[in-house]
Formats: sequence, structure tokens, C-alpha cells
Amino acid sequence: MRRAVSIFGATGSIGQNTVDLLRRQGGAGAYDVKVLSGARNVALLAEQARELQADLVVTADETRLADLRAALQGSGIAAAAGAQALREAAEIPVDWAMSAIVGAAGLAPTLAMARAAKTLALANKESLVCAGELLQATCAENGCRLLPVDSEHSAIFQALQGGDGAISRILLTASGGPFRDWTREQMQGATLAQAVAHPNWDMGQRISIDSATMFNKALEVIEARQLFGDTRIEVIVHPQSIIHSMVEFADGAILAQLGAPDMRGAIGFALNWPERQDLPVERLDFAALSRLDFHAPDEGRFPALRLAKQVLAAGGLSGAVFNGAKEAALDRFIAGDIGFLDMAALVEKTLESLHVEASSASSLDGLAAVLDMDARAREIGMAWSA
Ligand code: NDP
Repeated sequence: MRRAVSIFGATGSIGQNTVDLLRRQGGAGAYDVKVLSGARNVALLAEQARELQADLVVTADETRLADLRAALQGSGIAAAAGAQALREAAEIPVDWAMSAIVGAAGLAPTLAMARAAKTLALANKESLVCAGELLQATCAENGCRLLPVDSEHSAIFQALQGGDGAISRILLTASGGPFRDWTREQMQGATLAQAVAHPNWDMGQRISIDSATMFNKALEVIEARQLFGDTRIEVIVHPQSIIHSMVEFADGAILAQLGAPDMRGAIGFALNWPERQDLPVERLDFAALSRLDFHAPDEGRFPALRLAKQVLAAGGLSGAVFNGAKEAALDRFIAGDIGFLDMAALVEKTLESLHVEASSASSLDGLAAVLDMDARAREIGMAWSA
């Protein structure tokens, strides 16, 4: 029997890698593709849907529905558009769903996937950052297995298979991004093109900029807390991105997961779990690598890491504020409205403004409460001035 799958965010970097793996593992002959979703790139979405013979495609962008329908003409594939259609499509039962929409826009569909999928492969870390308790509770209530797709969290998940749970710390590796060795003065003048040019990973625009600010690592610290509980989490800069993360156990043993920096490794692991299949990733040649480097992160140059600790200490809906403000900061940086270092200043100020309300609320209050906090954080962030 073909395995029923859906991919939300199919046209993005993670989504395209997921489609590539489905294709290599038998495509439409092996998978019963229920839903593919995208937003602006409806030409690619239609192409993917035709190839994988999907039942339904959804674009988040309602203005593109006519173009999507035109691109699907004669295929018999149904098309829909908008946030409501996206949520409904995510409620369609599947064996495996990939959550790879970027940003808090992925939250409602991800919660719907947690109700309808047997396994939820989660790339959309923002869902855990904004509403970790709610997402975990939804998975538990519906018997949905959540598998992390972020390479670091996939590595931790894999390393944990080798221990009995007595973890003493998690070592979350960070490449340090394109500005790893830049001074604050240099960073203040960083351009969008420089921020997007990640040295190791080929990713979407937004996560690439988040890697440059290390907001991505900050989100991952919060994500790790949500996934792996109240364990000590340390960030260690490892420029080569070969060790994807490590777990130290009570006896001092450290288990690491290593591999080439290619997201198809972590996506393929989540797709095939609990088995392992041959994946099209480069194999490591240790003699050619010759060395792996490590150093402590600099919270002075990368304040996002310090802010993540504040968010963990404050709890409640502070993660939703953090992410909402970060997304507003990103929008403003991309628009050329604020400088690179202003992004962290904006997020810090927004966290301060909403600290009392956010820390006393909970994602278990429901999706509406989370989205409300997200909207308030964005509003403050958009109005912020240096
Ligand atoms: P991309 O920007 O490449 O892709 C995002 C996807 O979401 C696209 O399919 C896009 O559609 C769609 N999309 C954009 N806006 C909306 C919206 N408002 N509503 C619904 N869909 C929307 O992102 P990435 O693939 O890089 O990242 C996806 C997620 O995975 C993020 O949460 C990121 O943090 C996480 N992640 C990514 C990694 C990577 O290597 N890229 C690594 C680890 C985690 P369209 O393109 O058609 O407009």
C-alpha cells in the first residue's frame, strides 16, 4: 500500500528537498500524495503536483489561485487558496506530514497536522517556539509522533537513541553564520545580500538571515527545550557544520551525529524513521576534512543568544513574542528600513514591553491567545524606532 503523505511549504527549500527525496524513493508509485502547499510560486507547486500526482494543492496566496488553476488544467488535481483552505487541507489524515511553511504562518496548519497525521516531520521550528506546550499536547492527544527536521534537533534525537535518558547536557552546534568573525561595527553596515550568503547551508532567505544574526540558533535553543525538556543546553560554534549536535550523558560520554551539511539527511531520517534508507548525501572524508573547530559563542556580538535565555526564564508566551518581534525585525531589515544590529534591539525592546503579560500566559490557553500575542509583538516591532 502506498504511504499517504502531505507537504506544507512544498515550494520552499525544505519542501523542494522533501519532494526530491519522495521522487528518489519511488515518487507517485510509492507515495499517495494528498496535499502540497505553497504560496507565491504556483508554477513550481503545479509542477510538483503533476509529478507526484497530488490530490490537492493549496496556495496561501489567494491572488494566485487563478494562475494555479491554469497551471493545473487538465490534470484533475484540485486547487484551493487562503489560510482557511490551508488549515482544512492540513486536517486531511495522512501517515506522514511535513511542516515546512516559514514563520508563524505555519502554526495553525502545523497544529492541524498534529491532529491528522500519524507522524509530523517538523521543520517549522516557529511552532514550537510560539506554542510548544500546545503543539506537544495536541500531538499527545491525537497519537501523532513528532520528529524534528532541524538538523541539530534531528542529531540530538538520533544521539538520544544511544542513551537511557540520563542526559547531563545538550551541545547545540552553530556554524556562526556569514558574520562569525565580523566586528559589531562591520555588522551594523551589513547588507541583505551579505546576510543571506550562508557559508555552509543552502536555505530559504529568512532562515539564512536568522543564521547571520544567530536568531536561528536562539530559536533552536527554545525548540530544544520544548523537544527535550529541562536539560542544560549549550551553544558551541562549529564553523564546518559537520557535527550537527551532541548529547552528553551522566557518565560523561558524548554522542554526536555527523554528516555533510545537506538537509536531505535530516529530512530523509524523518521520512524513513525508524528505518534508515540510502540517501543522496555526500559521504564524509575525514582525511580531507582533517580538522573540526569549536569556539564559544559571543553574546556581545550576537545578542539573540542572550535573549533566548531570557525567553526561557520568562516562559509562558514569551516565545511567541520573541518570534513575532523577530519576524517584524526581519521584514523591516529586508525592506531596508532598519540596520542589521537593529533587529536584536527591536526584539529586546518588544520582549520588555510585553514581559508581564507574556510570562503569565500559556499556549495551552489556545491558538487564539498565541496568535494575539504574536500580533501584538509584530505591532510593537513595526512601530519601534532606534
Ligand atoms: P522557504 O522560504 O524556502 O520556504 C517557505 C515555504 O513556505 C514556501 O513553500 C513558501 O511558499 C511557503 N510560505 C511562505 N509564506 C507563507 C504563508 N504566509 N503561508 C503559507 N505558506 C507560506 O523556507 P525554508 O524551506 O528555508 O524554511 C521552512 C521552515 O523550515 C522554516 O520554519 C525554517 O526555519 C525551517 N528550517 C529550514 C531549514 C533549511 O535548510 N531551509 C533548516 C531547518 C529548519 P512560496 O515559496 O511558494 O512563496
